[in-house]
Amino acid sequence: MTSAIMHPMATDSDTRVATTGERAPNSWGLGDGQAIPWEYAPAPEARDIVALKERYGLFIGGRDVPSSDGKTFTSIDPSTEQPLAEISRATPADIDKAVRTARRAQRRSWGNLPGKERAKYLFRIARILQERSREFAVLESMDSGKPIKESRDVDVPLAAAHFWYYAGWADKLDYAFPGRVAKPLGVAAQIIPWNFPLLMLSWKIAPALAAGNTVVLKPASTTPLSALLFTDVCRQADLPPGVVNITPGPGEIGTVLASHPGVDKVAFTGSTEIGKKIQKSVAGTDKALTLELGGKAANIVFDDAPLDQAVEGIVNGIYFNQGEVCCAGSRLLVQESIADALIDKLKDRLATIRVGDPLDKNTDVGAINSKSQLEKITELVQSGVDEGADMYQPPCDLPERGYYFRPTLFTNVAQSHRIAREEIFGPVLSTLTFRTPDEAVEKANNTVYGLSAGVWTEKGSRILSMVSKMRAGVVWANTFNRFDPTSPFGGYKQSGFGREGGMHGLHAYVRLEDR
Ligand code: NDP
Repeated sequence: MTSAIMHPMATDSDTRVATTGERAPNSWGLGDGQAIPWEYAPAPEARDIVALKERYGLFIGGRDVPSSDGKTFTSIDPSTEQPLAEISRATPADIDKAVRTARRAQRRSWGNLPGKERAKYLFRIARILQERSREFAVLESMDSGKPIKESRDVDVPLAAAHFWYYAGWADKLDYAFPGRVAKPLGVAAQIIPWNFPLLMLSWKIAPALAAGNTVVLKPASTTPLSALLFTDVCRQADLPPGVVNITPGPGEIGTVLASHPGVDKVAFTGSTEIGKKIQKSVAGTDKALTLELGGKAANIVFDDAPLDQAVEGIVNGIYFNQGEVCCAGSRLLVQESIADALIDKLKDRLATIRVGDPLDKNTDVGAINSKSQLEKITELVQSGVDEGADMYQPPCDLPERGYYFRPTLFTNVAQSHRIAREEIFGPVLSTLTFRTPDEAVEKANNTVYGLSAGVWTEKGSRILSMVSKMRAGVVWANTFNRFDPTSPFGGYKQSGFGREGGMHGLHAYVRLEDR
C-alpha cells in the first residue's frame, strides 16, 4: 500500500505520470532519482446532490404514472452492483397511451407554436441542464459506470450544447432549407442506448422539438435514471404536457413503440442486430427512419505522426467511456516501421491509466455498464487469446465488487480474428500493421461497419487523400472522439444511415414541401 499524500508542487500533468516507483522530476525539489513515495489520494465526488427516489413512474402527458400492470424493474449501480431505484416498466398499453398523448400535444399545442416560442423552451432546457449539471453528472456516473470526469466534462455539457444549438434553429427553418417549407413529421419514437444516456437523449429530443415534433423516448433498461431526471427539467421549463414522454421498459417494448401506427418517425441508436429488427418492423410503412449502429473504427498512425500525441489519441479513442463507444478507435493500424516504438509508448501509457470508482475524479476507466456487457467483453478477449493474438494488460487492482475490466491491448492481430472484426464495446484495442497508405485504406475499409476513423500524420495532403478513400461517416485527423452539435454524425454500411447533429440532424425531423 502506498501513502496518499500528493506533493504540493504537483500539477495535473505531473500527477498523470507520477506513479509509485517512477522518478521525481527535478522541478519538484525532491532531487533526481528519488522514488516517488505516494499515490493519488481518493477524490470522490459527493453523491448527496442526487436525491434518488425509491420508485420512478413513466412520464406521460407531463405526469409520473405507474405502468398499467404495476410492474417495475431495478436499475443498479454497475460499480457496486447495488440497486439504485425501482422503475416502472412500460407495457404495450402504456406505449399506446404515450403515443396518443404525444399526437394530441403535437396537433394541439407544440406543432402550432411559432418557431421562436419553441426556441424559448429549448433555451430554457439548455440553461436548466447547465444549472443542474453536477446533479446530472453524478447521477449519470452512478447509473452507467462512466467516470465522473467524463460525465461532468463531456456528456452533460454536450447535452446542454445540443439544446442550445437546436434552440437557435427552431425559428430559422426557412434558412436551413431555403426555398422549401419545413413541416414537422409528427410523433417521433426514439430508442436510445446505455453508453451515453443523457447525451443520446439530447441528440434525439433537441432536433425533434426544434422542428415541431413531439416524442416518446425509451431509454435503455440499465440506464433509465438521467432520462427520468430530465422529466423534471421538462416540468421546470414548463414544457407543454405530452411534448416529451419517457417510457422505460424492456427491449421488446422498443419494437412495440417503433411499430406503433401512430408514430411518424423512428430514431434508434444501439446494436446493428436490433437496428435490423427495427428496420424490418417499419418496412412497408411511410415512417421516416434513422439508425445509428455499431462500429469498428480504424485509428491509423503513419510513420511521420507525432508519436506522443498519437498515443494520447489512441488512448482517448479506445479507453474513453470504457471503450463503450460506437465510434471507438478499436482497431489501431500502425505503419510497420514505427510499430515497435509506438507499442512501447502505448504500454507505458496504459500503466498510468486508473481503473476504479466512477465517482472518483481521478478515475480514467470506470465500471462496465452491465454484467452481460462484461461477459461479452470477456468472451471476445478470450477469443483473441485463443486465436493467437498477443495480449497485454497493465497491472492494476480492480475493485472487489462491480463490473470492471482492465484496459487491454492486443498485438499480432490478424484481420480474420474476431477481435479485429466484431464490435467489442469495451476497453480493448486490436493492433494491426500496414506498409503503404493503400494497404492502410484497404484494411481500414475491411469491415462491415463504417462509422468513424482516425488518421495521424503531419501531411495535410495525406489526410485529405485518406479521408476521401475511407468509407467512414466521420474521420478525425490528428485527434479522436471530438463531438460538436454543429457537426453531423452517422455511418455507412452496417453502421446505419441518417445523420444526427448539425443541419443534417434537423433534416431528419422535417418533411420538406414546395412553397
Ligand atoms: P441494444 O441494441 O440491444 O440496445 C439499445 C437500445 O435498444 C436499448 O434501449 C434497448 O432496450 C433497445 N432494444 C433492445 N431490444 C430491442 C428490440 N427488440 N426492439 C427495440 N428496441 C430494443 O444493445 P445492447 O444493450 O444489447 O448491447 C449489445 C451490443 O450492442 C453491445 O455490446 C454493443 O456492441 C452494441 N451497442 C452499440 C451501441 C451503439 O451506440 N452503436 C449502443 C449500445 C450497444 P433495453 O436496454 O431495454 O434492452
